[in-house]
Formats: sequence, C-alpha cells, structure tokens
Amino acid sequence: MRRMTRYSVFAVVRKAFRHHVGWERAWNAPEPKKKYEVIIIGAGGHGLATAYYLGKNFGIRNVAVLEKGWLGGGNTGRNTTIIRSNYLQDASAAIYERARSLYEELSQDLNYNVMFSPRGVMMLAQTQHEIRGYKRTAHANALQGVETEFIDPLRVKELCPIIHISGPRYPILGALWQPRGGTARHDAVAWGYARACSDMGMDVIQQCAVTGIRQESGKVVGVDTSRGSIDCSKLGIVVAGHSGVLAEMAGFRLPVESVALQALVSEPIKPCMDVVVMANTVHGYMSQSDKGELVIGGGADGYINYTQRGSFQHIEETVRALIETFPIISRLRMLRQWGGIVDMTGDRSPILSRTPIEDIFINCGWGTGGFKAIPGSGWGFAELIAKGVSPLCDAFSLNRFREGRFIDESVAAGVAH
Ligand SMILES: Cc1cc2nc3c(=O)[nH]c(=O)nc-3n(C[C@H](O)[C@H](O)[C@H](O)COP(=O)(O)OP(=O)(O)OC[C@H]3O[C@@H](n4cnc5c(N)ncnc54)[C@H](O)[C@@H]3O)c2cc1C
Repeated sequence: MRRMTRYSVFAVVRKAFRHHVGWERAWNAPEPKKKYEVIIIGAGGHGLATAYYLGKNFGIRNVAVLEKGWLGGGNTGRNTTIIRSNYLQDASAAIYERARSLYEELSQDLNYNVMFSPRGVMMLAQTQHEIRGYKRTAHANALQGVETEFIDPLRVKELCPIIHISGPRYPILGALWQPRGGTARHDAVAWGYARACSDMGMDVIQQCAVTGIRQESGKVVGVDTSRGSIDCSKLGIVVAGHSGVLAEMAGFRLPVESVALQALVSEPIKPCMDVVVMANTVHGYMSQSDKGELVIGGGADGYINYTQRGSFQHIEETVRALIETFPIISRLRMLRQWGGIVDMTGDRSPILSRTPIEDIFINCGWGTGGFKAIPGSGWGFAELIAKGVSPLCDAFSLNRFREGRFIDESVAAGVAH
C-alpha cells in the first residue's frame, strides 16, 4: 500500500518551485471489493470519523465507507460549524467534551488543516427562565469538568461590541459563555478524515448508494448497492436524515423524525465579530467566517420532509431576530441559503447503538447539532463496533426509549446548534 505524501510547509515550498504541478489526489477513488470486515454507510463526518478511529484505535483497516453522493455532501457540508460542549446531562457532556477536546488537536492528528478556531461561544439569556437554565448548566458543567461560566450583559458587550444589549423585545440579561468553544471548517473535517482513511488503506467509495441490506439468520452478511453487492462482517449505518430509510431496509424502526434545517450567509464584510453568538429566544445565531461572510443559522421546518433547500419563511424569521440583536447588519445583503435533512429524536440526544440485527450498528439522531460531536462520536462508535461496548455510547442505546431513560437535552440542543 502506497502511503500519501505528508502535508507540510516544506511540501508546499517544494511544490511552489514546481509551479504546484504534481500534487497527488487527496484521497483514492477505489472500485468496491467483494468483501470488507466493516462497511460504514454514509461518508459524512460521523461515518468517516468512525472509520478513522476503527483503524487508528483498533487496527481494523479492512473498511469501506460507502457514500451515495459526494463525501461531506450531506449535513456535514451544510452546517454552521458551531462547536461547543455545554450540555446539561453527564452522558452528553462526556461525548461532546471528548469531541471538543479532540478538535483541539485534530489538524495535527489528521495532518490536514481543519481550521479549528476556539474563539468562544455565547448563548444569550433573554428571559428569567433562560438565566435559571444557563446558570444550572454552568453548575453542571463545573462538575463535569467542562469550562463554562455565566456572564453579565456588560461582559457580553465587551466580548461582542456589535450586540445591542437593550434590544426592543428581549434585552440581554447575561449569557452562558464557553471560551474554548468555536468553529471549524466543515468540509475540511470530512476531507481530513477521508484522506487519513485512504492513507490507512481503507476504501472511501463515492457515488455508491446502498439499496438493500442482506441478512442470514438474523445477522448481517452484506449490502446491495448501485455498484453491485458487497459482503461484510459488520455494518455501521451513519446516514443522519436518511437513518429511517436505511433502518427500514434492515427491517427495524427508529424513533427519529427527519426535517429540513436551514442556514444562510451574507456577503463578505470586514471583521466585525470574533465570537459565536446564539440567541435562542428570538432564534438566530451568527458567527463570521474567515472569508468575512456572516454565517447565520435558521430554524427547522415544523413538518417531516426530505428537501435539502431553504424557504422564504425562515429567512424572514431569522433575519428579523438577528437585526434586533445586531442592528449593524440591517443593510447587509444575503448571499446564499440552503437546507439539510436532520434526524431528530424525542429527547434531542443521539443514538449510538446496537440494533435488533446482529452486527448492525446505528449512529444517528444528532439532529441540529452533530457537527461539534464528530470526533467524539467516531471515537465511541468505532469502539462499539470493534468491541461491542463503549462507555461513551452506553447511555445512547436504542433501549433508552423502551426503558424511559431519556437524556433530555431539549434546552441545550432543541432549537439552536
Ligand atoms: C443548516 C444546518 C446547520 C447546522 N449547524 C450545526 C452547527 O452549527 N453545529 C453542529 O454541531 N451541528 C450543526 N448541524 C448538524 C450537523 O450538520 C449534523 O448533525 C452532522 O453533520 C451529521 O453528520 P453525519 O455524518 O451524521 O451526516 P451527513 O453529513 O448528513 O452524512 C450522511 C451521509 O450519508 C449519505 N447517505 C444517505 N443515504 C445513503 C445511502 N442509501 N447509501 C449511501 N450513502 C447514503 C448521505 O449522502 C450523506 O453524505 C447543522 C445542520 C444543518 C442542516
């Protein structure tokens, strides 16, 4: 197996002298083999991270990641890239904080710049109820070892001068502040994991839709795809908004609903904010990308659908909320809007679980907020596939819905990201 050339400043300088001719492909484009030890369906961030940690942590490299479109073309390439771990319940804090701390070193680990920017995330409190909720979360985070604090309105203004703290409907009463939260470049996360998987000899196969799941005596034996049948010993389903469709192919049902979630970006402007701000009461959140665009998150549709596009109603609601929070942007033009299909569970927590079919595992239910979890989810899910158990995933099994052990994160994850 030929290893990929490492990216480094020396490689860039060497190639510059050759007019940047001769860069090799960032990842391979292999034909599917007849059989793999593990097949992962879905080359989004979670599927690719799972494959990567299967190889890195457990030495399992006979792995294929099958993707019906292009890698990172699902929600991973459509999200607003907010990374934080200020959740309420212990099980959530454990997996989200593992992910956030892995993000800190991810560029070095993958030898790929994912542009992690721990610029700080604030969630504005605009009602008394939110103040109580966020103070409670800050206390829970202190016990969990997650660094957050509740800050007053003057500190909010100091950290983000363009905020209007005495807004017309809901003045800002404080905020939950996570100084090491931030953003990363979403495509680069998918690309970095894909390249590292390729480098380990794994096959990331694009334009390969799974159309059926084959079983014998209650155990998975392979999948049917648009590029033929492929056998496997273990199967991981990691397809976000299409989880219900894949579960139906395997013959079981999931407690998830798929809805479109929307976002938009403005035209690029000079740097005007260097933190991420989330305003849940008026519902809008915003950060500034390195290109200068304001990246703005909208809401989820109130009905089940599989459309990957935006709608006028959400633009109006979101822009209204942001203009009262940041009046400075009122004359800015919007550049693009889009949607992604997110998979929502009743308790707003993910599912990382075995399934009724032997050796089929499912990772889904990240809903509106799974980008931030990619490294932690991949780490835990790889362990679950390799060993059959994982402390990071235990609480997130499918059984919790039957047994009533919900991990209620509706405050932390319900509307925003
Ligand atoms: C507008 C928007 C904003 C968001 N903002 C944030 C945010 O700020 N922070 C945050 O943490 N999260 C955010 N999220 C959520 C986050 O994007 C998702 O939770 C996360 O990207 C899910 O990753 P994934 O790898 O599970 O799914 P995906 O990236 O969707 O990957 C699943 C892949 O499976 C493939 N697939 C589906 N069916 C098949 C099949 N039959 N065969 C083969 N392949 C198949 C799809 O093509 C897709 O590429 C946002 C989501 C959206 C839509």
